[in-house]
Amino acid sequence: MKDGIPLRVKASVSVSRGSLWHGAIPVAKLPRLVAVLTDGEGELQVDLAAERDSAGVPRLRGKVAGELGLTCQSCMADFRWPLRIGLDLRLVFSEAEERRLLHECEPFLVEEDTLHLHDLVEEEALLAIPIAPRCAACGGE
Ligand SMILES: [Zn+2]
Repeated sequence: MKDGIPLRVKASVSVSRGSLWHGAIPVAKLPRLVAVLTDGEGELQVDLAAERDSAGVPRLRGKVAGELGLTCQSCMADFRWPLRIGLDLRLVFSEAEERRLLHECEPFLVEEDTLHLHDLVEEEALLAIPIAPRCAACGGE
């Protein structure tokens, strides 16, 4: 288990070693995420593992948790939204392989054998944010 989440890692090496990463990424370091938040406060707790599953398929699995500043679309108050996501990406190393697998799973195309871990976490967090967030008082999470 390595401490901290590297910016980028070599995909093939990480999968064959079964690399694990654990650490925090400050929200302020993720500019595309900050752009949709009320502020860049706090950090994301990240656990990631590169591995082959029981069928020998390379995957990147893990979880991301944190609290993000959003504006409630009902009462317009700012609140801390609890982000909790699980990640399970099937890694593919060529576009041909990506096309072949598209109908059976959601493949993640690895380019130049590089996994950009911060970018990837940022992307998953962006996808998880509700389109119309609501605070707890307005029936949200
Ligand atoms: Zn509200």
